[in-house]
Amino acid sequence: MIVTLAGHVDHGKTTLVRLLTGTDTDRLAEERRRGLTIDLGFAYLQHDGGVIGFVDVPGHHRFIHNMVAGVAALQHALLVIAADDGPMPQSREHLQILDLIGIRRGLIALTKCDRVTPERRAAARREIEALVAGTFLQGCPIIETSAETGEGLAALRATLIDAAATIDQAPADRPFRMAVDRAFTLKGTGVVVTGTVYAGEVGVDQEIHHFPSGRRARVRGLRVQNQPAAIARPGDRAALNLVGLEVSELGRGDWVASHPETGHRHLVIDLSVLDDFSRSIRQWLPVHVYHATRHSTGRLALFGGAGLPPGAAGWAELDCDEPLFAKRGDRLVIRDQGLDRTLGGGTVLDNRPRPRRRRAPARIASIAAYQQPTPAQSLAALLALGALDTREFQQVWHLPLASQEALIQATPATLHDHHLVLDSLWADWSAALLAECETRHAEDPGLQGLQENAFGNQVPERFRGDVLRELVAAGKLEQRAGRYRPLRHQVRLAPNEAAIFERLQPLLAQPQPMSLGDIAKDLKIPLINLQKLVRQLAIKGAVTQVNDKRVYLPDQVRALAETAMRLSSQGPFTARDFRDAAAIGRNIAIDVLEFFDARGFTRRNGDTRIVATDLSRLFTS
Ligand code: GDP
Ligand code: MG
Repeated sequence: MIVTLAGHVDHGKTTLVRLLTGTDTDRLAEERRRGLTIDLGFAYLQHDGGVIGFVDVPGHHRFIHNMVAGVAALQHALLVIAADDGPMPQSREHLQILDLIGIRRGLIALTKCDRVTPERRAAARREIEALVAGTFLQGCPIIETSAETGEGLAALRATLIDAAATIDQAPADRPFRMAVDRAFTLKGTGVVVTGTVYAGEVGVDQEIHHFPSGRRARVRGLRVQNQPAAIARPGDRAALNLVGLEVSELGRGDWVASHPETGHRHLVIDLSVLDDFSRSIRQWLPVHVYHATRHSTGRLALFGGAGLPPGAAGWAELDCDEPLFAKRGDRLVIRDQGLDRTLGGGTVLDNRPRPRRRRAPARIASIAAYQQPTPAQSLAALLALGALDTREFQQVWHLPLASQEALIQATPATLHDHHLVLDSLWADWSAALLAECETRHAEDPGLQGLQENAFGNQVPERFRGDVLRELVAAGKLEQRAGRYRPLRHQVRLAPNEAAIFERLQPLLAQPQPMSLGDIAKDLKIPLINLQKLVRQLAIKGAVTQVNDKRVYLPDQVRALAETAMRLSSQGPFTARDFRDAAAIGRNIAIDVLEFFDARGFTRRNGDTRIVATDLSRLFTS
């Protein structure tokens, strides 16, 4: 368990840590000289059940940035309030920060009790109860202590050890990342970074990625709560001995993580404005943003037109000057630049780049979908809105790749080039394009097919080509020279073509169409003239030319192709199998199969064939 101290300057935080652990956390010369904590200090208490770590923080308002850097959601809070002063401004501000960061457990030490009367102790208790009312510390133990007489120190120690015994191990269900608070070189060891593990686990020999440099390093050694360890978990205070990075490249505000990360400048947050903040939040307010050990200046924008008054909560948007390694669910503390006061905090909802139209309804809907409590619910809500870029989902939720893949597997949706689309939506798109293609060709018999970009906007542009190609593969559209048209569509025929087609059609529309030679005789036209006309009819889609001697109606070819597919699903088939299944003559069967081979629809191997692809090969040229 890690305990974070909190409280006004001079109320006795550093003294308490020293009495509990024997370590003086005021290690800087300036801190000793001034008797004032400026930077974070770390100390450890060993007990039978394990180790409790303490993060000592400065209580002076000028060093509030260092205080915030020491606080993390999985810690236990120890709020220190001197009995003589009672709650002071930083008692309140620190408590607010602990609350905003998401700390949910803690206790209070009422220090310097040697200096006051019993009446004053009782009064200080009442002031504290009023201070913590409505916060996570409401109803927590208040332990009266004195560094002079030693009163309450044993009770404080025992209470902390009890709390450590009941703390739950945080789940490590996200990729590893640790917020760095210190970096230094140890003689004989090398470069060490220390910090709080925010998510996931890290072990010896693991490769890590440094943010913001993007450089890689290896974990050579590991300590957790100041003890040698094999693995560090969420909430742990870890020290990593790194190989591959110089100490000059590392410092507070950095992250080390299992995956490379470039950070995000635009964050949508669920903002809560403190109820004692002095004014309403207005558009584009300049703020300081604190995220883990990192800080950035930035501006705060609101979604609604009116400002957010003190005590209110709502969505807001941060434009940060520096990229932050912030993921959905992370907590931020926000201070007003001008007033130098904490104005509130927020939980990250979305870290995607800000679109040009900030308040577009589609964007609002997608942020709301990311607000759903679980990844599965969020995924379902997002898919209901349309195609989902799975890389964005990864960026916001930051799930391990395997978990994300399992989630995707469980949805009734299919991946199309990184985008997940509900199968029902895809079917709607397919039906819409087919209908559009058919309607427009019916309206305009002169139309020689539609290019991909000539379709309307019913289907997002990115997916239109895939949907169309799938329709061709399913034998519902045909594609010639990049133009799509309905299978049965005939381009308007010239009068002489129409005349010949009218006479040709009944001769073709039977199970065994006549050969062109027989047709020529039947119609009393020279074969060479008939062949020329038939080539024109084939180009316009009225007939399908199998070879010089033979043509079919397109629907017949499709039916024969489906017969071949049915046979092939049982295994390789012979020309005889095909002849029997299609109930056609041997010569015709061979002509058709050779046409299929030539188009690449079937593949021949000795006496047998298999269907090598879908129908698209037959309907594309
Ligand atoms: P911090 O700023 O909260 O870390 O406060 P320190 O621990 O540095 O203490 C500030 C001053 O208060 C120091 O001079 C301490 O010796 C003194 N002090 C701390 N605890 C007690 C206490 O219980 N009784 C008395 N009389 N003085 C204390
Ligand atoms: Mg101190």
